[in-house]
Amino acid sequence: MASHFHQPERIEEALRFKQELGEAAYFLAGGTEVNNSKSKAAQAEHLIWLGKLGLGGIKRREGGVSIGAMTTLQEMLESELLHPAIHQAARNHANRNIRNVATIGGHLATCRSCADVIPVLLALRAWLRVATLSGELERDIERWLLGERDGIVLSVEVPDPPADLRVALECHTRTANDVSLITAGVSLRNEQGCMRDLIVAAGGVAASVVRLHEVEAALEGKPLPSREEVESLVAGQVNPIADIRGSADFKRHLAATLVERALRKAWNR
Ligand SMILES: Cc1cc2nc3c(=O)[nH]c(=O)nc-3n(C[C@H](O)[C@H](O)[C@H](O)COP(=O)(O)OP(=O)(O)OC[C@H]3O[C@@H](n4cnc5c(N)ncnc54)[C@H](O)[C@@H]3O)c2cc1C
Repeated sequence: MASHFHQPERIEEALRFKQELGEAAYFLAGGTEVNNSKSKAAQAEHLIWLGKLGLGGIKRREGGVSIGAMTTLQEMLESELLHPAIHQAARNHANRNIRNVATIGGHLATCRSCADVIPVLLALRAWLRVATLSGELERDIERWLLGERDGIVLSVEVPDPPADLRVALECHTRTANDVSLITAGVSLRNEQGCMRDLIVAAGGVAASVVRLHEVEAALEGKPLPSREEVESLVAGQVNPIADIRGSADFKRHLAATLVERALRKAWNR
């Protein structure tokens, strides 16, 4: 349990605390993960509260919308500025009590394998503004997922999608309250009967949410193949682990089904 609670008022101050205290300190946003007794963060001696850094709020910017890192998932669900697919993803996240405190910055930093909101951010080609001691930088979400997770997430930048972009999501949970077992997010354009600019993202099939590049490459520029073909393609590209929530085979089957469903939904939209 933490014995020191720091409340920096400047980003640089927060970063300096973290640099000096290292593993003994964790940033604190909504605290759903930090206060989870099973998480490593729950053992931290120092907590660095991000609530005084002005990172809240959803704003319209030229060419897109900016979601401050301290924005809660419930605020995202209720924001008229955000794409309906983001509303759907936020709605899938646990329950209202959790959504009222869980932030999008904490969601990205926690980076759960089956994170509910990350697939839609990939599908919408969102990117991150991140503060580090060497300065502020723009970070591709995929690179973030692959491990370049240093610094403080300042905001998620969601570009306005092209008018003909179709987005669809699917997820499966054991109970309505539970974390999703598998998530899928897809976006595409239908150009003269062929799929273009395809993005296929899946959660629950690897250590973090991943883009299925081989599936994208195999389908790009083609009409949507049969259900069986897509499912077999996806099943060959995912490698989930077996755990208390399901066997690897079950999760592979589920991922293939949900990705195929999301693709077909987007295609028919
Ligand atoms: C009961 C319960 C149910 C949950 N249900 C779901 C679910 O249905 N779907 C789902 O996807 N997830 C779920 N989660 C996981 C978690 O709630 C979310 O990922 C949540 O969005 C985390 O945000 P937070 O603000 O609470 O993070 P915190 O707990 O405050 O922080 C989490 C981690 O992120 C770091 N951090 C926080 N903000 C930043 C920032 N701006 N920059 C850099 N690092 C930062 C912290 O240091 C910490 O390591 C659940 C968790 C719990 C405990």
